Amino acid sequence: MTVKNIFESMDYGEAPEAAGDALTWLADRGPVFGHFIGGKSVPPRDDFASNNPATGEKLAGVTKGTPEEVAAAVAAARVAQPKWAKSGGHARARVLYAIARLMQKNARLLAVMETLDNGKPIRESRDIDVPLAIRHFYHHAGFAQLMDTELPDQAPLGVCGQIIPWNFPLLMLAWKIAPALAMGNTVVLKPAEYTSLTAMVFSEICTQAGVPPGVINIVTGDGETGAALVASDVDKIAFTGSTAVGRHIRQATAGTGKALTLELGGKSPYIVFDDADIDSAVEGLVDAIWFNQGQVCCAGSRLLVHEPIAETFYAKLRARMDRLRVGDPLDKSIDLGAIVDPVQLGTISKMVAGNTAGTTYQPDTALPATGSFYPPTLITGLNTADTLMQEEIFGPVLVSTTFRTPAEAVELANNTRYGLAASVWSENVNLALDIAPKLAAGIVWVNATNLMDASAGFGGVRESGFGREGGWEGLQAYTKPKTTPKPLKPIATYAGKGGPTDALDRTAKLYIGGKQARPDGGYSRNVYGKNGALLGQSSLANRKDLRNAVEAAHAAKGWSKTTGHLRAQILYYIAENLSARADEFSKRLDALQGGKSGNKEVEASIQRLFTYAAWADKYDGAVKGVPMRGVALAMNEPIGVIGCLCPDEAPLLGLISLVAPAIAMGNRVVLAASDPFPLAATDFYQVLDTSDVPAGVVNILTGDHTDLAPHIAKHLNIDAVWSFSGADISKTIEQEAAGNLKRTWVNNGQARDWFSTAGEGKEFLQAATQTKTIWVPYGE
Ligand code: NDP
Repeated sequence: MTVKNIFESMDYGEAPEAAGDALTWLADRGPVFGHFIGGKSVPPRDDFASNNPATGEKLAGVTKGTPEEVAAAVAAARVAQPKWAKSGGHARARVLYAIARLMQKNARLLAVMETLDNGKPIRESRDIDVPLAIRHFYHHAGFAQLMDTELPDQAPLGVCGQIIPWNFPLLMLAWKIAPALAMGNTVVLKPAEYTSLTAMVFSEICTQAGVPPGVINIVTGDGETGAALVASDVDKIAFTGSTAVGRHIRQATAGTGKALTLELGGKSPYIVFDDADIDSAVEGLVDAIWFNQGQVCCAGSRLLVHEPIAETFYAKLRARMDRLRVGDPLDKSIDLGAIVDPVQLGTISKMVAGNTAGTTYQPDTALPATGSFYPPTLITGLNTADTLMQEEIFGPVLVSTTFRTPAEAVELANNTRYGLAASVWSENVNLALDIAPKLAAGIVWVNATNLMDASAGFGGVRESGFGREGGWEGLQAYTKPKTTPKPLKPIATYAGKGGPTDALDRTAKLYIGGKQARPDGGYSRNVYGKNGALLGQSSLANRKDLRNAVEAAHAAKGWSKTTGHLRAQILYYIAENLSARADEFSKRLDALQGGKSGNKEVEASIQRLFTYAAWADKYDGAVKGVPMRGVALAMNEPIGVIGCLCPDEAPLLGLISLVAPAIAMGNRVVLAASDPFPLAATDFYQVLDTSDVPAGVVNILTGDHTDLAPHIAKHLNIDAVWSFSGADISKTIEQEAAGNLKRTWVNNGQARDWFSTAGEGKEFLQAATQTKTIWVPYGE
């Protein structure tokens, strides 16, 4: 082809990236790969193939990890962990820095290997995946360096099991390994079956970087290997992948005490208002849904267009789609590469073929004759309930509908069980920043999409999982408080001495929606003091009472929009009113629990209310130093409705220690009061009544925790459950919470000293909030 021909046709020339070095690397080190355990490569088996999705050719053979091999990797990590933690932040920072530098030196090899193995365009692996992965190690070298001074009360969790998907094999490896190592943990990582090869290159980098043996272990395999890792003797599981497997892992780890973070699927809305820069918004969509062939958990896969511009927008979008180039991922001017595997291609094809709603548009783009390719696809005119509007397709398929008003846009955007990310396009910054906080999503991009950085938290809400990766907030998931908890001693209810019961009805009712409510079942139980005297009766709440309480809590959603200043005032007011009745409360506590420490508990409760009144307007978010012209705002948002099972001990202080941080941060609570000493809670609602707490913000149930726990954990309109109960219910709660993947915080049978600093502070505030990262680029 001559320059004249090119000038006349304006066709793309070929710009192939050479694969020779990567293929030589595979031939030299492989062609079959074993696990990387204890700093050594384990003798391999050719259990399954890692194929090039663009050609279907086998690149290498990979070993499927057995439960024994997983156990060996965990054992190696266990042995290495104490020394790694003790080596100190600086020593760990040096190792992470060395990894980052070596990844930079091997950037081209890593990018080509990723493209060969996954099928993504080389442009993306070279300019996005690999640089972001390197940045993660650099950034977390910094966190390692700062841990001793900035997180002096935090300790590593121990050994972390990490399971990653095939869509960003190297980047997800970096997101998992860097924070874990920085905080002094050791890891066993399982790559996805389709894409293990960059992890193999990485294991060689670990050796060169001087990572001590056993600190990083990589066990290749499939879902069964993953399940074996989940079941193994690890202290934490960090998982990225499908919601179905995430739910399964939640159930499998329930009650084991293993920490868990889940980064799951999404159906993220891409909202375009009529005042948006339409050309930019169209170009943004190329990155939102056709980046990595749409195989992106936070892909902007649900397009919501303002009705007045819909036809213009769709016309421009179709014109842009006509020009997208699908083909050899090693060609530098290709827009869409190959789908990761024929199985995934089959899933996408079947979902689109099975759809009869709306209008499907696929440009007349030539697809390569071999390999797994799928054309860019747009389906317009769908209804919100249509399957493709609700289900994650995980392919280059964009679905769309229109909206009329900003309120309707928010309604449609939130009409999904997921909550990972969202994009808002408008030239009106007031509108965009009004919409962003209303979206149920962990990440919102204003006039942008798919921006990610090591300094900014990434993660979802609802069925998109919990926990954040990146930033200071991501470190929480790899640390725990330094305190060593003791086992919780159960407290039995006191028995009565018999004798006549009071003729007067002294049944303390439930407190629902700001009103006293009789229990639905009409049952109550006698409450005796330590000396056997009858102190009154407490109601036994059932499932229907819980339902009413949750409804009341939902009706009080305005609380989440109040200012921190207002919530502080109300918390001070509660403290003031409790103080005015301190004597009465302290006598009641003495009568309930025996002893004479009631006044100490009341005083501690008043102090705790002051603590959270103080925090209500001071638990600030942050502006993240992301490497672009713009800001990433980390906002601490309330979680919603929190179900709290209060500690048996310290019946007033324990309750306040949970309720105060929850409502200070804007949540509403439904609580089950101390099981043996419920009357402290029922007295307390009189204080709430006089303290301007809006109806429904705090709802108090009394009854058997073992009966109530599964219903609280299962309730789809409860967003998180905290349990410090004396009953053995941690497992039940974690298992039942898997339904809507609500966040849980349970005591696992460990005691907490509610009178000490362990009973308050940032741990509670973190549990009461979730970070939303709002990206706002600068410039015209
Ligand atoms: P999975 O959730 O099945 O896989 C994610 C990881 O978990 C892989 O390493 C997988 O191993 C492993 N795994 C599978 N089953 C188990 C198990 N029971 N216990 C522990 N680990 C397990 O995702 P898929 O790769 O199968 O993709 C299916 C769908 O999931 C996609 O179509 C897409 O909708 C969604 N997905 C979402 C992602 C996200 O980032 N949100 C990422 C990837 C997929 P192996 O790969 O060997 O099966």
